[in-house]
Amino acid sequence: MKKIHNCVIIGSGPAGYSAAIYAARAGLNPVLFTGMQPGGQLTTTTIIDNYLGFPKGIDGNDFMDNCKKQAERFNTKIIEKSVTKVSFSTERNGIHYIFLNNTEKFKSIGVIIATGSIPKFLEIDKEKKFMGLGISFCATCDGFFHKNKDVAVIGGGDSALEEANYLANICRKVYLLVRKNYLRASKILQNRILNKKNVYILYNSNVIEIIGNDFLKGIKILDNKNNTENIIFISGLFIAIGHIPNTKIFGNELRLDKNGYILTEKGNTMTNKPGVFAAGDVQDPIYRQAITSAGSGCMAALDLEKYIFI
Ligand code: NDP
Repeated sequence: MKKIHNCVIIGSGPAGYSAAIYAARAGLNPVLFTGMQPGGQLTTTTIIDNYLGFPKGIDGNDFMDNCKKQAERFNTKIIEKSVTKVSFSTERNGIHYIFLNNTEKFKSIGVIIATGSIPKFLEIDKEKKFMGLGISFCATCDGFFHKNKDVAVIGGGDSALEEANYLANICRKVYLLVRKNYLRASKILQNRILNKKNVYILYNSNVIEIIGNDFLKGIKILDNKNNTENIIFISGLFIAIGHIPNTKIFGNELRLDKNGYILTEKGNTMTNKPGVFAAGDVQDPIYRQAITSAGSGCMAALDLEKYIFI
């Protein structure tokens, strides 16, 4: 009979590796599936400047490589494959099934889901090419590179306004590009932004072209009300039009919120299935930082340890 594991971790970002280190040190012998993009979103970031403990910053790939090595040091079994299907038990101490394809399956009493989320793209030319070369999904990570320069933020939701608010304290001018003629963000954030003298809100605006050869120089904007086009020159473009949590394979198994994020119990990381925990961006539409993800990975491992041993 195939072995029944104590801890299977799905995902290899900061939440997954942090969970692995804590689970391994607690004697749970974790098995971690990396998924299609080992290391997750941070491997597409150039430099991480805001993770505690790296006074000079650290390259995103190097950081994730270190996380992997640290998990391996405690004998985490890392498998570079994607989970394609899951079947979770509803019983306490029941066995959960994790499928890699039609034939290969793993059994485990505990599962930690750390599959993260992916930011939504505009789906226009040069957008992916200029990622890290002027285009970013994270003002707290990359805003500093645009100190005293002009930047633009796309989106009218809470994320976009938070990004714009953060950038307004660093940059000279911040254009907020909103495709409708109103903001969707909460009133408190709207009021904060409306009080910023260096934030210029451009309503009815769609970015239709990215300008630059080797790095971002500007953008062409279509005013979708008057059907006119306009170019603005900026050093940074921050896209904040929402995220998509990677929860497709869990939809029939776990309780999700209306945006597809996994719902966990108040005060811990347990999902609605006993022994199944969620950590990192897959359950967090708000903070989405490497350090908060790593923190919640640690919490999930401690919650699982308690579930198994107490
Ligand atoms: P939202 O889905 O709330 O907002 C996305 C914004 O991007 C909308 O203005 C939307 O426009 C716009 N948009 C979507 N697609 C495009 C596109 N292709 N081109 C241009 N604009 C586009 O996402 P958020 O990430 O802002 O928020 C997600 C959730 O997280 C929300 O529930 C939010 O409240 C929460 N959150 C809370 C925070 C807090 O409490 N501090 C901080 C951040 C997020 P349109 O309105 O036209 O659809």
